[in-house]
Amino acid sequence: MAARIIDGKRIAAEIREEVRQRVQRLRETTGKVPGLAVILVGDDPASATYVRSKTKACQEAGILSRRLTPPGDVSQSDLLCIVQELNRDPEIHGILVQLPLPKHLDERAVLETVDAAKDVDGFTFASIGRLVENHPLFAPCTPAGILELLDREEIAIPGKRAVVVGRSEIVGKPISLLLLHRHATVTICHSRTVDLAAETRRADILVAAVGKPRMITGEMIKPGAVVIDVGINRIEGKLVGDVDFDSVAPVASAITPVPGGVGPTTVAMLLKNTLRAFEISPTAVGV
Ligand code: NDP
Repeated sequence: MAARIIDGKRIAAEIREEVRQRVQRLRETTGKVPGLAVILVGDDPASATYVRSKTKACQEAGILSRRLTPPGDVSQSDLLCIVQELNRDPEIHGILVQLPLPKHLDERAVLETVDAAKDVDGFTFASIGRLVENHPLFAPCTPAGILELLDREEIAIPGKRAVVVGRSEIVGKPISLLLLHRHATVTICHSRTVDLAAETRRADILVAAVGKPRMITGEMIKPGAVVIDVGINRIEGKLVGDVDFDSVAPVASAITPVPGGVGPTTVAMLLKNTLRAFEISPTAVGV
């Protein structure tokens, strides 16, 4: 039996349409719209592509988007000033600092300057603390998107054995917390895990967020498992995930493809978080 393909593009389009309709209603009631500022330091082509897709998605949803592009050699203090100005700007409800930043900048110090009420990426210590306590204002977009995929595919989480491969701050750790809060029994694997296949074979829900092309293969999967592939790897100009789709799909019950799985929902969740930032701002409270 072949796995059901989880269509991230369709689900992302649904979320984006829901955001668009809500933004439209808010514009009618408040005369204002949510605003997202994206700071892109330097000219890294991959970052520029991500930023373009985020700003385009904002425009389509009726969200104001502002792109700030300080040069690659911007000083730490100038960058902090840019963030502080955006913190004060009433038209801007969400602030996103596109990572990675050039080496001479202190990434953590820049992130910590973002007002927690505008932290739509969910990367500040305040947001992480809220997530740990299960009171998130803004969950990081990729993990939040994974939950949307599971929910909209009606995949039950409580009591399931979830195995997350990868423990990064932006994917592995937050998705582990989100699954834990949804009452999964969660195991987190990483590069020092002794017998990875033994762990993954116990997973009812497997999340792969490693950055190693096709490293999760069919024999590492429990029959009927749900497999979420977060990986984005470029091989000979082609995008492939961390999961070896061809050997895993015949064993799993559901699987996200790459591309077209987790990726599109990440951008959709950014819009959703920006909408939320607007809704908790003084402009829209009570609307
Ligand atoms: P990181 O490089 O930050 O983390 C990778 C994790 O994988 C680490 O925890 C590392 O362990 C672990 N790891 C490395 N090798 C192994 C191994 N052999 N066995 C088990 N674990 C291993 O990556 P990210 O979390 O940032 O990203 C992961 C992937 O997801 C990448 O391909 C990235 O491009 C993609 N991604 C996709 C997004 C999307 O929107 N679809 C968004 C963000 C990322 P250790 O901690 O011990 O080093």
